Amino acid sequence: MTTTQDIIERAKAVSMNTYPIQPVVMSHGQGCYLTDIDGKEYLDFAAGIAVAALGHAHPKIINAMKEQAQKFMICPASYMTEPRVKCAELLVQNCCTDKVFFCNSGAEAMEAAMKLARLWAHKNKSETCKEFISFGSSFHGRTFGAVSVTEKSRLYPQFGPYLPGCHFAEFNNLESVKALITDKICGIILEPVQGEGGITPADKDFIQGLRKLCDEHDIALILDEVQCGMGRIGSLYAHSQFDIEADIIAIAKGMGSGFPVGAMLAKDKFADAMELGMHGTTYGGNPLATHVAYTVVSEIMSDGFMDHVNKMGERLVAGLENIKSRSNKIEAVRGIGLMVGADLSIDIKGFLGALRENGMMATQAGAKTLRLTPPLIAGEKEIDEALEKIENTLKDF
Ligand code: PLP
Repeated sequence: MTTTQDIIERAKAVSMNTYPIQPVVMSHGQGCYLTDIDGKEYLDFAAGIAVAALGHAHPKIINAMKEQAQKFMICPASYMTEPRVKCAELLVQNCCTDKVFFCNSGAEAMEAAMKLARLWAHKNKSETCKEFISFGSSFHGRTFGAVSVTEKSRLYPQFGPYLPGCHFAEFNNLESVKALITDKICGIILEPVQGEGGITPADKDFIQGLRKLCDEHDIALILDEVQCGMGRIGSLYAHSQFDIEADIIAIAKGMGSGFPVGAMLAKDKFADAMELGMHGTTYGGNPLATHVAYTVVSEIMSDGFMDHVNKMGERLVAGLENIKSRSNKIEAVRGIGLMVGADLSIDIKGFLGALRENGMMATQAGAKTLRLTPPLIAGEKEIDEALEKIENTLKDF
């Protein structure tokens, strides 16, 4: 029989050293639970880091995959398919944007967004208008463009030079943005709720102030909704909760609920700058990915789904606040929808290991934040079980 130890040793021999290999090997999942190869069950409040919106092995996703896989999975991107058009329509008809570019991941969506902002500025402002403002503690992905606007990722000089002209302002500080505005700025990039940085929502005034600044200076407001979009914070798009419209939006993660798919959405004003041959990807918009994404997004938009996310989010936050009142190991609780964080005063990595031992998966955000991003289908039973596991693990830690 293959043991966990075997697989981990073999994995170490052949895997690039990018992520620390955890001491368990997952076998299968159902709903909000994953099971390892030894049969131990884990309540999954990581969900692939805010990805598995509909949980594991959701029957509608399985059906969608079967349905499309037995027809065809790929054709050249210049050939339209019904799944692709239906998915694009669904995404823009429920958003302030007009056009969609499909890709395969969050970083690719961000890369496309940055290229579009530069392209538009080059055509409409000046050839030197190529710079970006983004924010400290943000995260936008691992490709060169995305890394260049992610302050903490620029710390590896080995990979440099990064894109020049990327400036970092302080999140939720409009004055710090104003101080960086010049006629070279083509885009302001932000996550409406910072994920990796520690689950930090933008203030409504701040994000509305950014919208105004962008209008005044003809700058593209680029929202990275890769983590906080697609129902995660209780609305299909995150920005709708801030009562603003975006010029360009990046989405991924939850829209495929585990199937790799992403998209860059843009208003016609910006999208019209794109010319044939300027950007593309082999797999982007393939019929399998878009049929799955259409199925997932339709489910997220179904009656009562968002209410459920908001109710469960409130229950989770209230439960964590309760635990905080009994334990000094929780310093602060933040959350919006089912994107919830608790700052811990104890070693977060050790705590996550202990939590896993106790049958629950979660992730770290920032330096000390316990990040809880369960499947959006999590119900009262799963929320209460998570709270119990967190409190018991905290007690013993
Ligand atoms: N943007 C945000 C806000 C993210 O959280 C992530 C991934 O965690 C990305 C972009 C990059 O997405 P991907 O890992 O799919 O490239």
